[in-house]
Amino acid sequence: MEGRRRKSNSKAAADESSSLKASDAVPLPVYLTNAFFFTVFFSVYFLLLRWREKIRNSTPLHVVSLSDIAAMVTFVGSFIYLVGFFGIGFVQSIIIPEDDEDEFERLMVKEDSEKLPCAAAPKSDDLKIAKKIELTADDEEIIKSVVEGKIPSYALESKLGDCHRAAAIRREALQRITGKSLEGLPLEGLDYESILGQCCEMPVGYVQIPVGIAGPLLLDECEYSVPMATTEGCLVASTNRGCKAIYASGGATSSLYRDAMTRAPVVRFGSAKRAAELKHFLEDPLNFETLSLVFNSSSRFGRLQSIKCAVAGKNLYIRFSCSTGDAMGMNMVSKGVQNTLDFLSNQFPDMDVMGISGNYCSDKKPAAVNWIEGRGKSVVCEAVIQGDIVNKVLKTDVASLVELNMLKNLTGSAVAGALGGFNAHASNIVSAIYIATGQDPAQNIESSHCITMMEAVNDGKDLHVSVTMPCIEVGTVGGGTQLASQSACLNLLGVKGANKEAPGSNARLLATIVTGSVLAGELSLMSAIAAGQLVKSHMKYNRSNKDVANIKS
Ligand code: ADP
Repeated sequence: MEGRRRKSNSKAAADESSSLKASDAVPLPVYLTNAFFFTVFFSVYFLLLRWREKIRNSTPLHVVSLSDIAAMVTFVGSFIYLVGFFGIGFVQSIIIPEDDEDEFERLMVKEDSEKLPCAAAPKSDDLKIAKKIELTADDEEIIKSVVEGKIPSYALESKLGDCHRAAAIRREALQRITGKSLEGLPLEGLDYESILGQCCEMPVGYVQIPVGIAGPLLLDECEYSVPMATTEGCLVASTNRGCKAIYASGGATSSLYRDAMTRAPVVRFGSAKRAAELKHFLEDPLNFETLSLVFNSSSRFGRLQSIKCAVAGKNLYIRFSCSTGDAMGMNMVSKGVQNTLDFLSNQFPDMDVMGISGNYCSDKKPAAVNWIEGRGKSVVCEAVIQGDIVNKVLKTDVASLVELNMLKNLTGSAVAGALGGFNAHASNIVSAIYIATGQDPAQNIESSHCITMMEAVNDGKDLHVSVTMPCIEVGTVGGGTQLASQSACLNLLGVKGANKEAPGSNARLLATIVTGSVLAGELSLMSAIAAGQLVKSHMKYNRSNKDVANIKS
């Protein structure tokens, strides 16, 4: 009940503050035309007075003067306008289902109303998890049909109406078709309801990735226990050691200096001149307000920040950047882009939209545009590590670290022609946190862009270390973040779900935690290399003692 009340209040507030429509972008503001037609609608009052006068004077009603005709025309015109304007909206609101944002909000409120105290984990029997399914004789028939190709594997869920049974049947059919055992790939415990229609199709099980904890990470005067999902031995231990050095030195400080997800469609014209004309139009500051009204009307959270265009002959690549609240934002930015392209096609009817994504975005691919312009959240994080802590905790010294950083992360990366890879192993930490917290792991490509700087300070006694990461792409709503285990990891960090008071601050905090953890990882690995320990520790923690050659295939 409380949850519902909160929802309606917040929805009303949100509606009031941001009920923008594409019609806001027309040259004459809608409120002016509404006011005009409302005023002329009251010509009906004049008509009524005239009719009363005619009845009193026994004048026939059909005898009309010029002013009567004018009043009738304005009354009929305004009546048609008002019915069109308000009537269409009313009818639509009855027949059109709620949009996906409202649906999401409803799910969020449902979740909120069942919310446990902040730090409490949900009880396992509360989760709608798959129990072990015993296959029956009826199921045997279905398995045979799948094996023979009579029932497509993807149709099992909709045919059976029981997702867990469908997955068990698919799994059994797969084993028979391939002749390979899936023993070891668990199915029991899969939270199928949560992945359905959102995270994975045609499931047959799930892969277990252990989650280790590094920390406490002391960042901006708060302590965080950082969950890292990895199968690389040493990684969590090493990051933990970096956290220890940062903690002992008084903590790290972060600054988020940009927050904007990007999407860049490619459009084509009959000539390069026309492509350049659209570039001028889009980058003209005078047009920004209109374009952002159109763009922003697609979401309560997506807010256009900038537009940058690149011309290639007759083609134009338009890189829209937009803040996306607590969502990582790819869907949100794409919706805004679609709205804007629809609007532009009226202004530039000869524009052909070739693709909503033209790779100038650039999503999940190494690209200089991300490294230079940033994508998602751009964060810089720094710490001063005292010389004695460098000696005691990191088992090396300041001068060796500074020299190695220059030779390896700066010069070595330049020699290798690196693109955003001026670091020791940022992607190790980024990927492990991304997997634990339900981010899109493929985005580790640009999210791991990082330059690590090290400098001797305080007369060479202490170490100033920083990581600058321009493309951290994280969200705390949407995608894999709502799955039970990933959501528990977000909860551990205090950034679970949407932040109702300050939308976007959960995702921004998560981005700073990622950089703080990368700082810890960089410190520790660089120290291990400087001290010549790397091979030794990897032999100890990262290499299996089992006889690999004897593991059966
Ligand atoms: P993405 O754009 O990252 O792919 P989604 O498509 O899942 O993510 O969009 C996020 C959804 O969450 C939208 O429907 C949006 O309205 C909803 N939402 C609720 N609260 C927030 C919030 N604080 N920040 C961003 N989105 C939110």
